[in-house]
Amino acid sequence: MIAAVAACVPPNDSAEARTRRVIDRCAGCGHCRELMDDSSCRFMPELYRLVDREAADGEPISSLAMKRLLALCTNCGICPCAPVHTWINEARDGFVARDGLPAALRLIENVRLVGRVGGAMPRLANLLVGDGALARGVKRVIGIHPARRLPRFPRDGFSAWARQRGLFRAPQTSGRKVAYFAGCSARYYFPEVAKATVEVLQKNGVAVYLPEQKCCGMPTLLEGDRAFTFDLARFNVAELARCVAAGFDIVCSCPSCGHLLKTVLRDGAQYSPDYRALVEAMADQAHGDMAEVSARLARDDAAFTGRANGRSAHGRQPWLLGMVSWKVFSDQGYFASIDGLPRLRVANHCYDLGEYLAELDDAGELCAELGPVSGKMAYFAPCHQRQQGIGQPWMGLLGRVPQIDLRQVGDDFDCCGQGGIMGFKKAFHETSQSIGARLADQLAAAAPERLLSDCLSCRVQFEQMLPFEVFHPVEILRESYRNYRHDRLPQSLASVAPGPAVAAA
Ligand code: SF4
Ligand code: SF4
Repeated sequence: MIAAVAACVPPNDSAEARTRRVIDRCAGCGHCRELMDDSSCRFMPELYRLVDREAADGEPISSLAMKRLLALCTNCGICPCAPVHTWINEARDGFVARDGLPAALRLIENVRLVGRVGGAMPRLANLLVGDGALARGVKRVIGIHPARRLPRFPRDGFSAWARQRGLFRAPQTSGRKVAYFAGCSARYYFPEVAKATVEVLQKNGVAVYLPEQKCCGMPTLLEGDRAFTFDLARFNVAELARCVAAGFDIVCSCPSCGHLLKTVLRDGAQYSPDYRALVEAMADQAHGDMAEVSARLARDDAAFTGRANGRSAHGRQPWLLGMVSWKVFSDQGYFASIDGLPRLRVANHCYDLGEYLAELDDAGELCAELGPVSGKMAYFAPCHQRQQGIGQPWMGLLGRVPQIDLRQVGDDFDCCGQGGIMGFKKAFHETSQSIGARLADQLAAAAPERLLSDCLSCRVQFEQMLPFEVFHPVEILRESYRNYRHDRLPQSLASVAPGPAVAAA
């Protein structure tokens, strides 16, 4: 049997060889065999089923079975190994590079283009994505499941609103200023989220700039469209690195954009040739004192904007810098073919919106003019927010809202199952729903009046599966700021509860 399997191993960099690398690693480790049993993951159970069948029958796992296996991964990050996440993506890229993507998929993965075109003529576009016969025909042609509810195009988009407020001009200020990476979902489909983000930041005295930006690349990465993903990433890295050099923090209201810019871009960058050269030059000057190199890198990082995010400190630890100079490791990150220094510059200065506001709060700089917000609420912390390792900033921030009735629902093993545009596809619709069922059941049991999540893919999925209204937490914070004036009336003040009712999962 082993000989049969070995004989079928394809040439080294084929899509099958890349998939085999994932299978062998996870089969050899075995940790996720049980760990993923009670989770949303559909990939690991299928991987172990294929491995067990191969061992029993001696029949090698076929190329088609591998391709189907890869299609089950939503990049939720519930499984613990970052290299495995990268290898799954690279294996998917391999299949797409060889077999191509259907033309219709190439259209809908271009979320920005669809959003811009649809937003320019929302009446017509909404006919095409609605519930009528025309929309059913469009779904059939494009390969979207007939039961899928698609987001509608708003009539009052974010870009015109932003232009009226001068957000496309870089503000001149010595105070806090952010380059807002709005992401395609907030910008083109859910503009209230982008508007609330700007309002809340400005309420806190932060100047907001909307730089040139393209899709973060997460939807195309999930589809295995490597060339397109790299085009997007190269543009965004150059533009955002320019913003950092001009003193802007980068803020994302979308956790998937934030995960890609903070985590996926950073992955491996400390072993890139250009970063290694910088560390070696600094080490020479510091006579090999890596603690001094670490302190100097921290000063250099802070010099741009006055701060860098929590993750940046991890990469500057002296022992890690020592490993950088040993030349033992190389940059194996997904974006390894983009220079490491600008990747790190962007990653180190990028903040999730909740993380940024929580830092303001910790510094005693968060505007406390918060009024009461009513309604029973349930909050789900999305996968790509959890992967940023920033704790639960929104639970803390919303805990400051008077009279709030909020509890956290879902845990580290939950995923909504949407996976960018994956959930729209006819072939993935049922799987997407089954992945999300574990979480949807918990949310249904919580029976909130309002459902909160910072991820707009989660929002799309919740609107598909559940009867509750869905909001981004920043919309609740904006509502609270807007309610402050009423809160100051004597009778309202008397009714404000002394402490927030907030419960973690
Ligand atoms: S993802 Fe990591 S922990 Fe899980 S089985 Fe694979 S190698 Fe083991
Ligand atoms: S990233 Fe998520 S879906 Fe993919 S293998 Fe890991 S746990 Fe499963």
